[in-house]
Amino acid sequence: MSNPVLVVGAGPVGLTMAAELARYRVPVRLIDRMPARTDQSRALAVWSRTLELLGVAGCADAFVAAGLHAKAVGIHAGGKILARVTFDGIASPFNYLLMIPQSETERLLEDHFRSLGGQVERGTELTGFVDGGHSVSCTLKHAGGESETVEAAWLIGCDGAHSTVRRMLGLQFEGDTLPTGFIVADVHVTGLTMPPDELAIFWHPEGAVMFFPVMPGRYRIIADIGSAALHVPDLKEVQAIVDRRGPGGVILSDPVWLSDFGVNERTVRDYRAGRVFLAGDAAHVHSPAGGQGMNMGMQDAFNLAWKLALVIRQEACPALLDSYGIERRAVARQILAQSGRMTRIVLLASPLAQRLRGFVVRDLFKIPEVRRAVANRLSGIMIAYPDSPLNMGCATGLRGAWPGQRFDADFTIGAGRLPRFTLVATDDAEAQAMIARHSALLEPEIRQPLDGKGIWLVRPDGYVAATARSGNWPVIEKALMRIAV
Ligand SMILES: Cc1cc2nc3c(=O)[nH]c(=O)nc-3n(C[C@H](O)[C@H](O)[C@H](O)COP(=O)(O)OP(=O)(O)OC[C@H]3O[C@@H](n4cnc5c(N)ncnc54)[C@H](O)[C@@H]3O)c2cc1C
Repeated sequence: MSNPVLVVGAGPVGLTMAAELARYRVPVRLIDRMPARTDQSRALAVWSRTLELLGVAGCADAFVAAGLHAKAVGIHAGGKILARVTFDGIASPFNYLLMIPQSETERLLEDHFRSLGGQVERGTELTGFVDGGHSVSCTLKHAGGESETVEAAWLIGCDGAHSTVRRMLGLQFEGDTLPTGFIVADVHVTGLTMPPDELAIFWHPEGAVMFFPVMPGRYRIIADIGSAALHVPDLKEVQAIVDRRGPGGVILSDPVWLSDFGVNERTVRDYRAGRVFLAGDAAHVHSPAGGQGMNMGMQDAFNLAWKLALVIRQEACPALLDSYGIERRAVARQILAQSGRMTRIVLLASPLAQRLRGFVVRDLFKIPEVRRAVANRLSGIMIAYPDSPLNMGCATGLRGAWPGQRFDADFTIGAGRLPRFTLVATDDAEAQAMIARHSALLEPEIRQPLDGKGIWLVRPDGYVAATARSGNWPVIEKALMRIAV
């Protein structure tokens, strides 16, 4: 058997990565230094685009059944509602925000990985590696103290914000730490008058307090604590903040998680060094505002897995792998900027700035297009790769997605056990000939386009690689030749 891919870290990103590689029948080992899965609820928000990709992977149903479907977010100040954004207009079959504790997300991903024949090796730590050019020689330390050397075909560091892999590569984690800390509490809540499937943000001159529903009666509460030293709060402190900043009459009880966190906004410049990749928090960290961190990391995994599978199967040239860092770093930069803006708006301290914020938000969010755009952006369905080196052609004059954009189809793209592109075109002799020529890259089935005047070549992760007018097959041929071995 060929050398396995070694995935380090069985958080949500490592689990997604390993499960996707297993789906493509790539030999993979997934290790985590902790003896057991996290029981912390950390990331709660799973957005539409992540659910779409989990659907393609074959495990969205379990998530949808296990989570709470949040329908809207409201921003309140001074006893009034300033803005309310509903999620039902998100242009996705998953037109809601799924609230599910990270511990549950990891459990479901692990079940999925197991259903594909995988197993998480816990109590196993990566302590060193040497990239030899043709493989990576990795040193593992097991819980009992014994050492093991693994010859890995590729090494993927999904080992979180304090990544060992990143440190050993000597990569800088460039960025800043915000001067403000936050406290977080998962508690039982009574007396909140908002609908139980709605997120509620309360702005107060002293700071913000936010309520995120986890399940009926239980909420995640987050509040900023200014320049006070980070500390784990007790229930009394959280109740006092809620009393001062919240809507009044809200009673907290039965805390299951009380914690604090600081906000770092950092990314690496390179997601890859030789045979070693980084994904998830190992490559980027940012404010939890907007609930994007885990979503972005899981989408790193969905982006890399099919490319790596094609290269390992010798069906695509290794240069395909360079597109991973280019595409995902651009997304990270956008999301860091977006979540940073949201955090700084929440943290505005001067009374004048706070008043101005209130006016602007109230007036801006009266416009339905603004509300829809905000929901669609948060949902992840607007994520695109306009500068991808894989893009070819253009969609001028065609009704449909451009190269780099998500292909919105009423059929599933990318499901199954082989990483294959989908040809969306009128089924004719030329289309059939294209499939025959590139059978190692293309699904055998041709899909009908919405606009019969165009051809779309769609990647296994649902993004458009190439577009052309009907008959302009050289564009599609060129796009495939760039990838083919
Ligand atoms: C309060 C809070 C709320 C959040 N809310 C959201 C949200 O709503 N939505 C969202 O998308 N994101 C949210 N996030 C961010 C989210 O939690 C992270 O982005 C996510 O956990 C990153 O996943 P990961 O798999 O990259 O890393 P991690 O979850 O950190 O997993 C890394 C794993 O690697 C293992 N590991 C580390 N080093 C080694 C080694 N040398 N050998 C073996 N194993 C190793 C660790 O044990 C760990 O299990 C939130 C974060 C916080 C703090």
